[in-house]
Formats: sequence, structure tokens, C-alpha cells
Amino acid sequence: MGRTPPQVGPEDPDLSHRIHQLPDAYLGCRDYGHNWRPSTARRLRDSTYEAVVTCERCAARRVRLLSARGAVLSNHYEYPEQYLIPGMGRLTGTDRDSLRLESVLRVMGVTPLESRRRRRAQ
Ligand SMILES: [Zn+2]
Repeated sequence: MGRTPPQVGPEDPDLSHRIHQLPDAYLGCRDYGHNWRPSTARRLRDSTYEAVVTCERCAARRVRLLSARGAVLSNHYEYPEQYLIPGMGRLTGTDRDSLRLESVLRVMGVTPLESRRRRRAQ
């Protein structure tokens, strides 16, 4: 029985690779959440309000439509290109683990095992 080397990195190598390609800003926002700052606000003709906040880190936009009394009528997000990982829907618990791990390894300057293997194979 051979010994397997210790694994660093998530179990799904494909997901791991895609996470590894994420720019630092996107990884940070996915790990810690967005850093919202007010951007624009305006009153619309029907007395509702449109308030836009922008993320300082990744430039995502959150657009909220409020009633004249301040009730939330709608809320949507606009993400920069590349922010949403293609082929990756909503993140599950394990996917989030992978993001968190990549985030901490990147700060430590450690390359995950999967991408090292991939590089060697090229
Ligand atoms: Zn962000």
C-alpha cells in the first residue's frame, strides 16, 4: 500500500483551478463579502428611490429600489465580468471551503497542490 502525499487544496481539481484563476479582489469579496460604499441615489418620477452602492474592492453594484416610505421594492446585483465563475452556480458549503482555503493559501504565498501538478504537466 503506497502512501499518498498530504493534500493541500479542494477535492474537485477543476473547481480548484477555476478558483485559483480568480483575481485577489474577487476572491476577497467571495470570502469576506463585499465592501459596499454609497454610489448614487435618486428620486424617480413615481416617488420611488433608486439607491446604488458599489463595492470598493471588486466594483460590483447593488441596485435597490425603495418605495416613498423606504420599503424595499426590488434589489439586484450587477457583477463585473469574470466575477461569476463559469459553470459554477451558487456556491455550496464545500465550494465556500475551497474559496476560503485558496484565500488563506494565497496570503501565505502557498501554491495549492492541484495547480502545481498542472504546471508540471505542461
Ligand atoms: Zn466586491
